[in-house]
Amino acid sequence: MKEIDWSNLSFGYMPTDYNVRINYRNGAWGELEISSSEYINIHMAATCLHYGQESFEGLKAFRGKDGKVRIFRMEENAKRMQLSCQGIMMAELPVERFEEAITKVVQLNERFVPPYGSGASLYIRPLLIGTGAEVGVKPAKEYMFLVLVTPVGPYFKTGFKPSPYAILRHYDRVAPLGTGRYKIGGNYAASLMAGEEAHRLGYSAVLYLDAKEKKYIDECGPANFFGIRGNSYITPKSDSILPSITNKSLMVLAEDLGMTVECRPVPVEELSTFEEAGACGTAAVISPVGKIDDLDENKSYIFSKDGEAGPVCTKLYNKLMAIQCGDEPDTHNWVTVL
Ligand SMILES: *Cc1c(COP(=O)(O)O)cnc(C)c1O
Repeated sequence: MKEIDWSNLSFGYMPTDYNVRINYRNGAWGELEISSSEYINIHMAATCLHYGQESFEGLKAFRGKDGKVRIFRMEENAKRMQLSCQGIMMAELPVERFEEAITKVVQLNERFVPPYGSGASLYIRPLLIGTGAEVGVKPAKEYMFLVLVTPVGPYFKTGFKPSPYAILRHYDRVAPLGTGRYKIGGNYAASLMAGEEAHRLGYSAVLYLDAKEKKYIDECGPANFFGIRGNSYITPKSDSILPSITNKSLMVLAEDLGMTVECRPVPVEELSTFEEAGACGTAAVISPVGKIDDLDENKSYIFSKDGEAGPVCTKLYNKLMAIQCGDEPDTHNWVTVL
């Protein structure tokens, strides 16, 4: 095998040795299957292809200083995938089966877990799709759960630096009573145009507002949003936000650090009162927000004047990363050591 240049990995797909699959047929989940093929063979009338019965997850495994592999909060991903399955009427995989599959696929691909200190990690992508053939609009009778892994590089090539976000009111990611709280491909297809427009205008992502009134902050496409004011960690509460496990963890860590956590509707104007802001998710942990341009109202909210991340974002980021790779004690029982 060619040596992998761990410190120059991108956040992209690289083939690994194995993936694992579990099929749902005749009302029951079958045995775990190990595959070395990067392809799946499904019926052309599968509901995932026509009617969007598709849900996914994202989590990571890290190598610690002790050489051991650690998986972060996989039970939370298992439970969230069950909620997504309820949301789009797919068969739910039991939490234990999910954990069995994740553990197995990481063990099988252990040589792709990047070394401690490289900043890289093994990204784990579970996928659950309707594979049964239907032509009428109804849930499939057959499903496939699949987990692939791929090593990914440090999210921040140039260091932990703030980036610009845009508010664009002519796009919504999800509907007010729609599917925003489920982690499903359909929400991502619906966000591509807005994301591309933001990139074209020089922003790293869109900050979405609530679709009904456009008064409150929702989230940033693939990441939740939070603001820091004084000793408070403030993050929006809304039924159309995807409940981020990173955000959930940061709220706990903020409390551990003696901060007050507020999870409530956050009006757009409140942005002007934040000293720091961040987008959070598995890929980056925290992506500091340098500024938010409200392109419709011609307003800018600035959170970083010197191009550096703020002290609270930096502290939270370092703390969560240290727990994930085992440098700090796992006092909340978040980590599974293989
Ligand atoms: C996955 C995802 C997030 C981040 O969730 P994490 O569990 O922290 O990775 C945020 N928003 C959306 C829409 C997502 O799909």
